[in-house]
Amino acid sequence: MNETIQLDGHSPKGPLEQRWTQHKYNLRVVSPANRKHYRIIVVGTGLAGASAAASLAEMGYQVTTVCFQDSPRRAHSIAAQGGINAAKNYHNDGDSVWRLFYDMIKGGDFRARESNVFRLAELSTGIIDQAVAQGVPFAREYSGYLANRSFGGAQVSRTFYARGQTGQQLLLGAYQAMSRQVALGHIRHLSRTEMQDLILIKGQAKGIITRNLLTGELVSHLADCVLLCTGGYGNAYYLSTNAKGCNASAIWRAHKKGALFANPSFTQIHPTCIPQHGELQSKLTLMSESLRNDGRIWAPKHAKDCDRNPNEIAESDRDYFLERMYPAFGNLVPRDIASRAVKLICDEGRGVGHEINGQKLGVYLDFADAIVEQGATTINEKYGNLFEMYHRITSEDPTQQPMRIYPAVHYTMGGLWVDYNLMTTIDGLFAGGEANFSDHGANRLGASALMQGLADGYFILPATVSDYLARQKPLADADYPEVAETRLSVQKHLSRLLSAPDPKHSPDDFHRRLGQILWDNCGMARNDHDLRQAIMQIQQLREAYWQQVKITGDNKQINQVLERAGRIADFMELAELMCRDALQREESCGCHARVEHLTPTGEVQRHDNQFSYVSAWRYSGNVSEPILVKEPLHFDFVSPGIRNYQ
Ligand SMILES: Cc1cc2nc3c(=O)[nH]c(=O)nc-3n(C[C@H](O)[C@H](O)[C@H](O)COP(=O)(O)OP(=O)(O)OC[C@H]3O[C@@H](n4cnc5c(N)ncnc54)[C@H](O)[C@@H]3O)c2cc1C
Repeated sequence: MNETIQLDGHSPKGPLEQRWTQHKYNLRVVSPANRKHYRIIVVGTGLAGASAAASLAEMGYQVTTVCFQDSPRRAHSIAAQGGINAAKNYHNDGDSVWRLFYDMIKGGDFRARESNVFRLAELSTGIIDQAVAQGVPFAREYSGYLANRSFGGAQVSRTFYARGQTGQQLLLGAYQAMSRQVALGHIRHLSRTEMQDLILIKGQAKGIITRNLLTGELVSHLADCVLLCTGGYGNAYYLSTNAKGCNASAIWRAHKKGALFANPSFTQIHPTCIPQHGELQSKLTLMSESLRNDGRIWAPKHAKDCDRNPNEIAESDRDYFLERMYPAFGNLVPRDIASRAVKLICDEGRGVGHEINGQKLGVYLDFADAIVEQGATTINEKYGNLFEMYHRITSEDPTQQPMRIYPAVHYTMGGLWVDYNLMTTIDGLFAGGEANFSDHGANRLGASALMQGLADGYFILPATVSDYLARQKPLADADYPEVAETRLSVQKHLSRLLSAPDPKHSPDDFHRRLGQILWDNCGMARNDHDLRQAIMQIQQLREAYWQQVKITGDNKQINQVLERAGRIADFMELAELMCRDALQREESCGCHARVEHLTPTGEVQRHDNQFSYVSAWRYSGNVSEPILVKEPLHFDFVSPGIRNYQ
């Protein structure tokens, strides 16, 4: 069903480079003396949430933060390896805010808002300064200047990094800033606490119900506004590079309370992951994109060579297919393009490594040339910890034989729809970081997720949340009937999970089956027929789930099976929306490759005249009947062209 009203992202007008400055000037502020009267809840303390909480508390608001891990330091952000972009132009190679803006708009295949993307490019430089001031140990040149490297989709060097631990170091910086506020009493932090539902009072987001994961106790928290910074939902696919706990529950439950969900099918599949080695595997591992700076990707030219020792395959029998197909960007083409090329090679029967479901799923990422040119010491200095991780998992040494890689689910560009102020369609509910549908359009360029999460947290939300609060009276403490109602519905949901009529299978068993349906039908290639089939399969699986899910233990103590069961129940519903979104978008763009809309050489074909919009879905009360609302996209500064990396 389509809704005729169109969404307005409230992008400011005027010259692009003045929009954010002008907008900030127009935003209201709360006087310092009054800030202590306002309460803010921040759900999630990864990079987006920790930076937002620290900044808002520093301004003087009373902040409550929650996360489900035992410490904010264990948020998934800690896994980010490769780096963070900033248009500093330290290499004097022609970088600028405008170039970063252009690269992101083009990289996202013209499916993101110009105003937001420009703002992100503009804020990128301040993030690095902020992190350096906090003591984040970025890699440096001999001269002492910060070092950078290149990432996919860019022809300049703008990625700042701390070896292969950029996310960890940035998170420690944000956590440190947050801890200072905890010590000052401005942040009340609750670990091992999971948001169960959003409390709406007269239609406004005014609190959350949480479950204490150690005791099972349900607690209500009230505030003047709520920020969801709860990360991405790539784990809907079961196998992904995300941490096992990453989930969609907070944003999905907010969606069911009225927040629109944007572009749910836009999933990033990263080309350089360690291939799956068994059908019962539960986790995949990323090999950072930074490796494509020096590693060359190839496959045997002839299928008969696929089982041979790669070191014995002659140069003339190797196909450096990315360099052949995309000579201008070579191994550094954007992720969606590289992933599709790897899939194409494996589908042709030229994959290497283990067989999964009868197909060899892997190609080589080779450092032999780089070692000859730069020396083993230099290459080890750059990538040593990634090599070690690969060695530990595969028992193969990448300095002696090429790595094997295959694409895997990595990041979700979709998420809660937000306007320019990062507010969702629920008044007073904001979303930051990977949880919002953000600025990446149909494909995210490498090293821009950390940039976006920190821009949201350190710079955007402090300004826009203040504007919102300036228009509110602090919420009085009272017995609001909405609190008891929400709490009751949470209790019912938990009881239903614990009392399936015919408990037979573990939640993980259902999750594995769900993931397979999504990967096969809503993964790197999608088509009308398979998506329709997938929707039916998901509906059947969901029905079986509520009948047969078996949860051991109870609700009164630590019960990780119950925690997972709740998250999987939400994935079961979101997965259907992902397929419906992919079905509705009858074009290809970025990560979304509808096989009916590909060129004969396999490149995506957008249909701008029909699909130049953000798809935002409204919950209708029935997960199988979502309502599509469109936010038209306008391009005043960049004209949407064919994305050419050749
Ligand atoms: C292996 C890997 C490597 C990556 N490398 C890079 C890179 O080099 N550069 C780059 O730019 N990007 C990278 N990314 C992407 C980037 O790491 C993420 O997009 C980013 O860290 C997300 O940050 P976040 O703050 O939005 O969410 P997260 O870090 O996922 O934090 C989510 C928070 O929400 C909390 N939470 C979730 N649900 C609930 C709930 N219901 N109740 C309470 N709390 C909840 C969690 O406890 C956690 O604190 C990488 C991603 C992966 C998977």
